[in-house]
Amino acid sequence: MRDEILDLKDCGKIAVMGGTFDPIHYGHLVAAETVRHRLGIEKVLFIPTGRPPHKNNRSVEHDEHRYLMTVLATANNPYFNVSRIEIDRPGLTYTIDTIQSLKKICSDETEIFFITGADAINEILTWKKVGELLKICNFVAVTRPGYDKISLMNNMKNVQKNYEMNLTFIEVPALAISSTDIRNRVIAEIPIKYLLPDEVEQYIMKFELYKTPFENKPFFTFINQKLHIVLTPKRFAHTQGVAGEAVNLAKVWGISVEKAYIAGLLHDCAKDFNEEETLRLCSEYDVELDEIIKRQIYLAHSFLGAALAEKEYLVTDSEILNAIKYHTTGRAQMSFLEKIIYIADMIEPNRPFYSGIDDIRKEAYKNIDKAVYIALKQTIDFNTEKNRTIHPLSILALNYYENHFKEELL
Ligand code: NAP
Repeated sequence: MRDEILDLKDCGKIAVMGGTFDPIHYGHLVAAETVRHRLGIEKVLFIPTGRPPHKNNRSVEHDEHRYLMTVLATANNPYFNVSRIEIDRPGLTYTIDTIQSLKKICSDETEIFFITGADAINEILTWKKVGELLKICNFVAVTRPGYDKISLMNNMKNVQKNYEMNLTFIEVPALAISSTDIRNRVIAEIPIKYLLPDEVEQYIMKFELYKTPFENKPFFTFINQKLHIVLTPKRFAHTQGVAGEAVNLAKVWGISVEKAYIAGLLHDCAKDFNEEETLRLCSEYDVELDEIIKRQIYLAHSFLGAALAEKEYLVTDSEILNAIKYHTTGRAQMSFLEKIIYIADMIEPNRPFYSGIDDIRKEAYKNIDKAVYIALKQTIDFNTEKNRTIHPLSILALNYYENHFKEELL
């Protein structure tokens, strides 16, 4: 529905439901309906985000798809509307701009509530013109079951020391559903039925949203389905990001995109085991661990990952296995595929921002050796600062790049 025909003048209380909605699901709908009912809200406006300032790099589905899915999902609730205000506004999307625009089409008496996930509200001090925003808008933090509400409330006490904030918490069990998990399921060809409205499911299928960069060959489906079981949703999403980035790099650097895809998918296949399980599997698959890895067991996942890729995911190609094996430490004289996985892991679009990521991203498509050198140096500096022992493979890799590409890298 177009904003110009949105009539909010007579509303005493309206709520804005802000989020990426990539895609919208029953968790969002139940949350909005619960808040509407509990707080006596007359209209809930779903506003899919445009270009959030904190997510410059994450790839989200096209604005128009997210908007239309939100329209489909909300069409049968007379209290719900969808607004294009954020996707149509040029530039970065700030909530203050949205609320100020809404105030212009509401009466002076209308109370505005902003509903969103608790994680976002936890970061509210970083939002643009937070003081002004908190004056003109009430906040509702909807939480998933098991959410650490105590630390959120403590953080909010800090906010309330400086600002007056009207905040309501509402726990919504249905929010156990998550958009990340739905996207992951589509990739792994696992049903999404009953997690979101049928219309949205049909839309996703019709436009083939959230698919892998390839036709889903049975072997890829086999890998994705197995990973979907053993990895956390966040790790699975990271894995997809690495596989996609590796494919893009492989195209640019002229190596096999299928090998890049498989290595990207499997690079972290052993990362979500606890220490006991990691040690058990290393012993079962004869993965030798040196003293440094034994003391810093998180390093074992790449070596174990290569063994699992071979034994459990039936990968026989030694280039792929080595790309998995050395993706954390790196090593001197890495193959092209090894470099690509090493770099894709550091720059994939879901990676939270860290200082230096833009330099590595820039070089990855121009001069891959320079990208590897910058990435190695940063990783070594970061781990030294954390008092971790640097693995000799990484030191040898750094020395190798410094000696062989000295002039080119300066
Ligand atoms: P997001 O990436 O879509 O969501 C972050 C987390 O909150 C996810 O777990 C998400 O679950 C959940 N979530 C998102 N929207 C929700 C909703 N309405 N109800 C329940 N759970 C929800 O969202 P975001 O980018 O953090 O932003 C959330 C809102 O805050 C947006 O409207 C955004 O514009 C605003 N914001 C403004 C500023 C600013 O003004 N500077 C900064 C940050 C955020 P699912 O993945 O399952 O949706």
